Amino acid sequence: MIVAERKTIPELVDILEGHKKILVLGCGTCVTVCLAGGEREVSIISSALRIASRAKNLSFEIEELTIERQCDNVFIEEAAKAVERNDVVLSLGCGAGVQAIAERYPAKPVYAGLNTSFIGILEERGIWAEKCAACGACVLDQYGGICPVTRCAKHMLNGPCGGSREDRCEVRPDRPCGWQLIYQRLKSIGQLDRLKRIVPPKNWAPSLGGGCRVIVREDHRI
Ligand code: SF4
Ligand code: SF4
Repeated sequence: MIVAERKTIPELVDILEGHKKILVLGCGTCVTVCLAGGEREVSIISSALRIASRAKNLSFEIEELTIERQCDNVFIEEAAKAVERNDVVLSLGCGAGVQAIAERYPAKPVYAGLNTSFIGILEERGIWAEKCAACGACVLDQYGGICPVTRCAKHMLNGPCGGSREDRCEVRPDRPCGWQLIYQRLKSIGQLDRLKRIVPPKNWAPSLGGGCRVIVREDHRI
């Protein structure tokens, strides 16, 4: 899922200052699961903004709404009337959701209420960790399903770097060494031989170079 974090209330007040009628719009998908922008967070942030605005004599009028997915036009349509009623939208969706709302309502200011962080999973209660950088040319098959791009601090395709202590990464001692994990995983699935090969440089062309990436599925186009 996409993992995001809430901006602070002072940051949001700064962003919204000068506006009166504000729609705080949540998203019911990834950001709900990572506890950043779902219905519950819409309610918490709205209450905090009402209090903060009173304290600063800003008199925000806040409407709350959460739709299933902000990155999908089918669901964005459900917000049409609420968007119309308000001066601005504070989106608690991920960066894709914020931009989808802004594209659908070009005359309405749409602000991001979250900092979109990474693609990751819940590791344990209260801890989300990055698992994929959406590099566009996945190499997981060669590393036992453990991503060297995100889980090795040096992004080494031919690791380890030799700096780990016990099972910890030398760059991030709070995290396990990604290459230790790769070794253990390959060992447990009987594929340690993979480590004998020198992996050639990765093709980074499908990554961020060249601007906005787009996937076209002709079989899904009419
Ligand atoms: S290799 Fe690329 S696509 Fe595959 S998990 Fe790692 S970052 Fe994501
Ligand atoms: S200690 Fe491990 S995870 Fe950290 S940079 Fe070196 S190989 Fe990568």
